[in-house]
Amino acid sequence: MIDKYGRNIDYLRISLTDRCNLRCIYCMPEEGVKSLSHAEILTYDEILRICRCGAELGIRKIKLTGGEPLVRKGCASLAGQIKAIPGIEKVTLTTNGILLEEQLDDLLKAGIDAINISLDTLDPELFKKVARRDDLAKVLKGIEALTHPGLSLKINSVPVIKEKENFIAVAGLAKKYPIHVRFIEMMPIGYGKQFPFQDEESIKTVLEEAYGPMHAVKERYGNGPCHYYEIAGFKGKIGFISAMTHKFCNQCNRVRLTSEGFMKGCLQYQEGTDLRGLMRGGCTDQELKEAIYQVIWNKPVSHNFYEAKTEQDEIRGMSQIGG
Ligand code: SAM
Ligand code: SF4
Repeated sequence: MIDKYGRNIDYLRISLTDRCNLRCIYCMPEEGVKSLSHAEILTYDEILRICRCGAELGIRKIKLTGGEPLVRKGCASLAGQIKAIPGIEKVTLTTNGILLEEQLDDLLKAGIDAINISLDTLDPELFKKVARRDDLAKVLKGIEALTHPGLSLKINSVPVIKEKENFIAVAGLAKKYPIHVRFIEMMPIGYGKQFPFQDEESIKTVLEEAYGPMHAVKERYGNGPCHYYEIAGFKGKIGFISAMTHKFCNQCNRVRLTSEGFMKGCLQYQEGTDLRGLMRGGCTDQELKEAIYQVIWNKPVSHNFYEAKTEQDEIRGMSQIGG
């Protein structure tokens, strides 16, 4: 469906859980995480109902995210059920990769279209510092398992470790494997506010020094705002998602659903609608559709991360929203 600024909103990101098996420093606190209870998060039936109503309004692509989506039992089966909804064309997953190797067969059988793995470093000691868990080996096994024909795999990397060698090593995955590596500028949301972002240009300069010229390509490879470059000798591309230095709100195609069922139009603002409350209060599908319609129609024109903060700003963290 088209929002009031003329953007086609056809992409819904769904956070399946606020729980996670990592504690990335820019996303969650080390201790004292207060997780939602099972009664507070949406049931899979509620999620499917929202997807069906969304599909009738023009949602075509669904991303399963979290917290860590693979810690919630039945994620693969949910992906398959969402894929079967008329109108839904693609179901994709964003994961930290820890549980991927063990769940990959089920995800493939369910027809998952693409998987993004978040990985900020290839150095085991730095991984322990950033993710606060000693689990890099499991993530790397997940990546190896995923070089699977017919499946699109991307690596998402938030450059929180700013050593040149780290960018070079992470980008090197696109040299070794036919996968795209994308660098994401840190956004001032939740714990991310404590870390200055590393801008796209500075990373590009480092990578060009290490690997030679990067040439922009027109292809988009997926549903989002990432723009890509190719490097001679690389099997995959290098991408940048630069919400801070290359604001892309005029092309934004997405709305978000938190694990407790709150639908949001924009990452930055609290604005949105409690779909869980509506459904548990006995709303009809028509009423649910109307509520989703209103979130899409009223989607804010843009984020304003550089401006002074207001009381409308989001207070949830990324693990609750889903990134
Ligand atoms: N656990 C899964 C994962 O890590 O991919 C899914 C949820 S996680 C919140 C989704 C993505 O958001 C990850 O790639 C993570 O690096 C990114 N992220 C978290 N906080 C961020 C921030 N403040 N700015 C930009 N990206 C952020
Ligand atoms: Fe967990 Fe993903 Fe947040 Fe890291 S970025 S703590 S893996 S939800």
